[in-house]
Amino acid sequence: MIKVIQDDITTLKVDAIVNAANNGLLGGGGVDGAIHAAAGSQLLKFTKTLGGCETGDAKLSSGFKLPAKYIIHTVGPVWQGGVCTESELLSQCYQRSFELAYSNNIKSIAFPAISTGVYGYPKKAAAVIATNCMRQYESKFDEIIVCCFNEADVELYERLLGNSSQAA
Ligand code: ADP
Repeated sequence: MIKVIQDDITTLKVDAIVNAANNGLLGGGGVDGAIHAAAGSQLLKFTKTLGGCETGDAKLSSGFKLPAKYIIHTVGPVWQGGVCTESELLSQCYQRSFELAYSNNIKSIAFPAISTGVYGYPKKAAAVIATNCMRQYESKFDEIIVCCFNEADVELYERLLGNSSQAA
């Protein structure tokens, strides 16, 4: 089941939330900053040991003080006009996050709209990629949550998920 909600992802009681992190995995602004603030300083202590993360890849940590058991840190591409394999890299973020989740027996997982904040990826194009990946992995999870931060994103995702043939 794929569910679209409007919420602060740090409050969700799921097996794993996904963080739109940066290459250093040392925290930052946006959802990354919110997750680090809510998870507590033990998170940074741990992510410092991970040696960073390539764009398009994903790494796992505990949720520390979060209600979620795990955090999957993935690094989305910075939008550069679409000529630098951004779409492949964004798709890889979702795929690697799902693979990591599946191999750790995670059944419920919540995603923010990766790369669509500071990294500037156009929201609709990013949502098409996200929903196509989610459809591919839907049967392997009990619950996939699209955690939107504003109402416009909720409408966008619901439209795409309600009519996935046009989203492809
Ligand atoms: P990126 O650097 O990958 O663009 P951002 O954190 O700037 O990451 O933005 C990614 C998305 O996360 C944006 O759509 C933003 O509105 C959303 N966002 C920011 N804070 C939260 C939060 N606490 N919970 C869920 N989504 C959030």
